[in-house]
Amino acid sequence: MRKLIRNLIKKMLDRIPLRFYQRLMKRDVVGFVYHSVSDRAMPHVRHLYTPVSEQRFENALLYLNESFTPITYGQLHAYVMEGLPLPPRAVYLSFDDGFVECYSVVRPLLLKYKIPCTFFVTGDWIDNGKLFYRNKVSLCIEKLNGVTVEEAMGLYDRLNNRLGTHVETMQDFKQWVLPLVQADEPIIDRVCEAFEVDIGAFLRERQPYLTRSQISQMSKEGFTIGAHTCSHVKLAQVDVETMESEIVESSRLVQEITGEKIIPFAFPNSATGIEREDLIALRKRHDFLGLFFDTKGVAKDLKFMINRVWAERRGFDPIGQETNLPVLLHIAYIEQAFENIMGILRRS
Ligand SMILES: [Zn+2]
Repeated sequence: MRKLIRNLIKKMLDRIPLRFYQRLMKRDVVGFVYHSVSDRAMPHVRHLYTPVSEQRFENALLYLNESFTPITYGQLHAYVMEGLPLPPRAVYLSFDDGFVECYSVVRPLLLKYKIPCTFFVTGDWIDNGKLFYRNKVSLCIEKLNGVTVEEAMGLYDRLNNRLGTHVETMQDFKQWVLPLVQADEPIIDRVCEAFEVDIGAFLRERQPYLTRSQISQMSKEGFTIGAHTCSHVKLAQVDVETMESEIVESSRLVQEITGEKIIPFAFPNSATGIEREDLIALRKRHDFLGLFFDTKGVAKDLKFMINRVWAERRGFDPIGQETNLPVLLHIAYIEQAFENIMGILRRS
């Protein structure tokens, strides 16, 4: 019965057009977050999620300029902290992680369309000193894609012998490797060894992440640079002291590179499960920290927590190079409306 009601509510919410949600569920600002935009192959990313094509991103920028007013981090900060007004239909664009394409692909397009943006960079990856364990996983899958069936069988054998796994197909491998977490990084390194995926060479030759000098230039050009932890750890899974040092040290590094007084911060993955009281206390101890950013669509949170819609989310792609932002924004409102209604029903 309960399932039937949930399905009925979902069906009803799906039928409400985006423009009604925008009127019914007023938001002074909506945020979008991207990671990767590129027409050049991103083997370190593409088995995790699909990078956005350059044309689709350009169409997204046209959509943002037509349907919204893109705002700077400074405007958002002044609105939240000082109560200054925002323009109508304000939208806030950002990128997480700090891939080099932020500089080579995204930045020229943003300059062309005069759209402000914040880039949240991961401390340990700046200057390509270290590869994210998820990017290593993607490279291992890529390796299997590029070899013959016989060669793949040989790699599975080697893996099974060295790690005691029971992998016989690509599907087996993906099922085993994709759920691995940050603490499993030594295992992933052994997979790279078994598959002869040379991480050091990839970092040197491909240079997948932003460098200090690129970050510094983007900051001088008027873009905002924010922090995204040092190691890209899920902060809900570490103790409060580690969380504090990940946030503060990565923000200090950004401050050192850009010279900015206030540094905003974005949570890797999401801030779900983190005690808001801990964040309030931490912010009191470090007054150079700016606003905090999460990935919960159009959900409301504490005033310093700004949510964003994830623009690379799978499953809602329109055909071709059209932007998927209106679809994703619509879905975000539907999901939030559903959660609100469920909340009311639970309380009644
Ligand atoms: Zn991230």
